[in-house]
Amino acid sequence: MARGILFILSAPSGAGKTSLVKALLERDPALTLSVSCTTRAARPGESDGVHYHFLDRERFRSEIAAGVFLEHAEVFGNLYGTREPDVRDCLECGQDLVLEIDWQGARQVRQRFEDAVSVFVLPPSVEELERRLRGRGTDADEVIARRMQQAHDEMLHYAEYDYLVVNDRFETALDALAAIATAERLRLGQQRPRLAPLLDPLDRRPN
Ligand code: 5GP
Repeated sequence: MARGILFILSAPSGAGKTSLVKALLERDPALTLSVSCTTRAARPGESDGVHYHFLDRERFRSEIAAGVFLEHAEVFGNLYGTREPDVRDCLECGQDLVLEIDWQGARQVRQRFEDAVSVFVLPPSVEELERRLRGRGTDADEVIARRMQQAHDEMLHYAEYDYLVVNDRFETALDALAAIATAERLRLGQQRPRLAPLLDPLDRRPN
């Protein structure tokens, strides 16, 4: 059995990453979404162990010290991290895993998993990003300006990723993400264990 593929997905807020990931997982049940740890408070509708593992700072710090995290980062004043044993267990079972993490986490994961496949989702333009961040228009201008700045800071790192997906039309962006998953599964190394009965005799033939 081949090891599962580790996908990293990053995006500025407002690019539509969360809705895309939700739709991708519905379309492709062979993908699993990693559940991160965070010190931020749960939002309405979020449950512990499902959307995040909600930890207090002390517990988070002690898990950092114990080397539990594959990666961790401070994002918007809160700590976020991915537990390494969860990732390894999943991949060793042949399950493909998606990490929805920021650019700082993505960098750390690439150092430990060289074959991780990273995808950056971009909004179609800065104007459209601002329109999406304004949403229903209830937030103060300085709140919008801060979100725009944070989104811009995340976007500065797009070139560190293997694939770019522009979320202009939702369905097109979703097709692109599904195509990336398909292409990565078609790689020779990924298919070899499953196709051993066909490929092994071919490898033994002199050419
Ligand atoms: P939110 O609090 O809105 O769910 O997420 C805020 C940001 O934290 C998003 O950019 C998200 O990608 C990032 N994030 C979520 N989980 C993790 C994680 O485990 N590690 C890192 N590095 N970033 C994360």
